Amino acid sequence: MEDYPRTLTELEGRFSSEEACRAYLFALRWPDGFVCRRCGQGRYWLGADGRVICAHCQGHTSVTAGTIFQDTRTPLALWFRAIWWVTSQKNGASALGLQRVLGLGSYETAWTWLHKLRRAMVRPGRDRLAGRVEVDETYIGGSEEGVHGRETYKKALVVIAAQEDGDGIGRIRMRRAPDASAKSLQAFIRDAIDPGSRVHTDDWKGYEGLMEIGYQHKVTTLARRSESASTLLPRVHRVASLLKRWLLGTHQGAPSPEHLDYYLDEFTFRFNRRTSQHRGKIFYRLIQQAVVVAPAPYESLIKHVRGPPPKRHKR
Ligand SMILES: [Zn+2]
Repeated sequence: MEDYPRTLTELEGRFSSEEACRAYLFALRWPDGFVCRRCGQGRYWLGADGRVICAHCQGHTSVTAGTIFQDTRTPLALWFRAIWWVTSQKNGASALGLQRVLGLGSYETAWTWLHKLRRAMVRPGRDRLAGRVEVDETYIGGSEEGVHGRETYKKALVVIAAQEDGDGIGRIRMRRAPDASAKSLQAFIRDAIDPGSRVHTDDWKGYEGLMEIGYQHKVTTLARRSESASTLLPRVHRVASLLKRWLLGTHQGAPSPEHLDYYLDEFTFRFNRRTSQHRGKIFYRLIQQAVVVAPAPYESLIKHVRGPPPKRHKR
């Protein structure tokens, strides 16, 4: 049974104490009941400081150990407020906005929280897309939109998959790719789309060989340069333009490549839940995922990973 607050007032009333927040995390983390990691027994008692103590072997753990809340010195009630705010912002959340709404002392703290939460926006072992799926790449960043044959460090290549849902768009997946080679594109497609699905692409050679790895492949050729790719693969191009607009509007342009992955995850998380009736349900989903993803220490968030520049291949 999915149990979540419906309104901000309900949230604030229910999650005003550490105990209430811990109990909620506990239920999401051990939905089938607590099991001790050391001895596998299920009986426990709760310590005053939030520790969970195994009644059999006296092993200690806590409801936040091994989650994004691990080692936080901030009250969980404030985290819950942050998660509510992040999930109720239709157009995404900025660090400055979060800092303001929670009255956080530093921008850095707000920024770190947002990045921790973005890591929870991808559910480990999530389903792949299936059915009919459009796939194409787009470039994010730089001001050379539409310029041919340029390579720059500022640009990132992003591969997007958008499921057909009648004339509309179903769920999406996206990922930054090192290049538009068959190796990179096939790796994304294998991770994002069920084999047997019909993958619709343009005639870029990087998409050759999809049938050999178990997909149906529909290829649409751009007959003339004047023909617009957006009319041939409309869903994936619609997603690309929404993504760019979102990055511009909410994040003042493209984030650095090493952070872009998390923004892509946030965009995907929001897009795939855009029709959800209850904000509370998204809150629930994000907390549920937050207790199963590993902690993200600040050092790992600011680590700079800069790969080779993406290679342009077309148009
Ligand atoms: Zn035990």
